[in-house]
Amino acid sequence: MPNRPPHYVLLDRDGVINRRVLGGYVTHWEQFEFLPRALDALRLFAEKGYECLVISNQACVARKLLSVAGLETITRRFMLEVALAGGNIRQVYYCMHLPEDLCSCRKPQPGMIHRARLDYGFVASETFFVGDSLEDLQAAASAGCHAVLVRRDAFLEKHNALTVTSNLYEAAETVIAQQTAGHGWLQVPSAMDASSHTLRARQN
Ligand SMILES: [Zn+2]
Repeated sequence: MPNRPPHYVLLDRDGVINRRVLGGYVTHWEQFEFLPRALDALRLFAEKGYECLVISNQACVARKLLSVAGLETITRRFMLEVALAGGNIRQVYYCMHLPEDLCSCRKPQPGMIHRARLDYGFVASETFFVGDSLEDLQAAASAGCHAVLVRRDAFLEKHNALTVTSNLYEAAETVIAQQTAGHGWLQVPSAMDASSHTLRARQN
């Protein structure tokens, strides 16, 4: 690997790395199911010199459905599984508030991205956020990051100014392709000017 600072990619958790629990939350490790190719994607990011930062809303803690200790147990376990698969999740940020708490960290607010940027010093306009929800897209835009949307039905959708992929692996390929050019890093336009680097969803 050439000597250059690590690059960071921001990832939502539920619906991007692991399967969402319909109408609920992941409150036991047994409910944490990696999505297809997610572990491959995390290994690919690591192989390309990326460090992954997870940015996730977990209001289940405020709702008393899961303790902080319980959330930490699930998190340690999933980070271990990722590491065993060759991936590199550097840190996980959670907002544990309720929507009505009106905190600055719960997505669509960009507070957790700002915190991560302070911790790791990445440049927002050179950093991608991979998410599966409108809140993810809004948080990324507010922070000045690029966004990639993961949708299982991506091939059905048409977006003019948004990159849509079917799973995290496709998202990883897209991020890496947009940021690398053989050697060195391309300057990519800001999220506010996404139309100039739109990729169409793949046809499966
Ligand atoms: Zn919060």
